[in-house]
Amino acid sequence: MDTNQDMEKLKAENERLAKLYAAKSDLVSLSVHQVRTSLSAIKWIIKMFLDGDLGTSTPEQQNLLAKAYETNDRAINIVSELLVANKAEEIMEKDYAYGKVDIKEMIDSAVFDFSGEAYEKGIEVIFLKPEMEIPHVRADREKLRVVLQNLLENAIKYSNKHGKIFITLVKDGGFCQVSVKDTGVGISEEGKKKIFEKFYRDPEAQKQEIIGSGMGLFTTKNIVETHGGKIWFDSKDKEGTTFFFTIPIAE
Ligand code: ADP
Repeated sequence: MDTNQDMEKLKAENERLAKLYAAKSDLVSLSVHQVRTSLSAIKWIIKMFLDGDLGTSTPEQQNLLAKAYETNDRAINIVSELLVANKAEEIMEKDYAYGKVDIKEMIDSAVFDFSGEAYEKGIEVIFLKPEMEIPHVRADREKLRVVLQNLLENAIKYSNKHGKIFITLVKDGGFCQVSVKDTGVGISEEGKKKIFEKFYRDPEAQKQEIIGSGMGLFTTKNIVETHGGKIWFDSKDKEGTTFFFTIPIAE
């Protein structure tokens, strides 16, 4: 058989597999979203019972409800990770839709989204708002949101109870620079070299049974760099970590 024919065949097969893969990926995203929505609904119903909003329950009932709440919460975390892992592939493949984004407002909304989780761990999230005028950045809104969500989620996940998280935003030349500082467990020496690798998780994270996939920072770095920005961190064992990233200012 001639090589041209072989190449054509391979190309056609490759296209067929890519379509199949995209369809599977979409189906997983959709189903996982539906499962997460149902689990979240259950979460709030259990919480209403736990808080006594629906009448008093016996200590035994309270105990069981608390267990149900915890188990359900773990399921939500696992499912959320699955969503991120599945999305990571899409993020790399699909085109970016750039526009002008008000990053200050986006940070405000990300902080709001995580206020429930932070509150549950007694963690205070403080956005030290810039005094200077901050210009809009050139970004794909949804992907930039993923960056902020991943960094905030990690800061909460890898913080001890009653920790503090500080977020800053400054303009630096042609970029906006964001920092997310926590007072958490810190990153190990080995982790400092590997933290942005796909599926890497620090031994500390695994020891404490914190749920994760090791995909968050890999995806985050990919998104930041696709925007033309940079990401880095500064971390001290048992003292905390600060992540920094930059995003270009819109013309
Ligand atoms: P995941 O959180 O799902 O494990 P990530 O890619 O977001 O995956 O992070 C990779 C690893 O980096 C984590 O498992 C954790 O060990 C470490 N890490 C990330 N953010 C922090 C942080 N703020 N403080 C300490 N360790 C962190």
